[in-house]
Amino acid sequence: MDCPDCLERLYAYLDRELKPDEVTEVRAHLDDCGGCDDNFVIEQRFLARVRDCCTEDKAPAELRTRIVTQLRMDHDAPR
Ligand SMILES: [Zn+2]
Repeated sequence: MDCPDCLERLYAYLDRELKPDEVTEVRAHLDDCGGCDDNFVIEQRFLARVRDCCTEDKAPAELRTRIVTQLRMDHDAPR
C-alpha cells in the first residue's frame, strides 16, 4: 500500500468500514510511514473532538476546517 491508497482508506478505517485484510494493510502502512501516521492521529483526534461536542454525525465543513487547523497547530507545536 502506498500513501494515496492509505489516505483514501483512512476515513473508512476510522469508521471501521474496511474489510479485515484492508485494516491489516492500513495498520502496516501507518506503522511504516510517519506522514500517514500523523494524518491518522489528527483525523482520529478530530473525530473524537466532534463526538465530544456535536450530536450530529457529520460536522459542518467550516467547523471541520477550524478543528483540523487547531489540531495541526497543536500537533506541530514544540513540546
Ligand atoms: Zn504513507
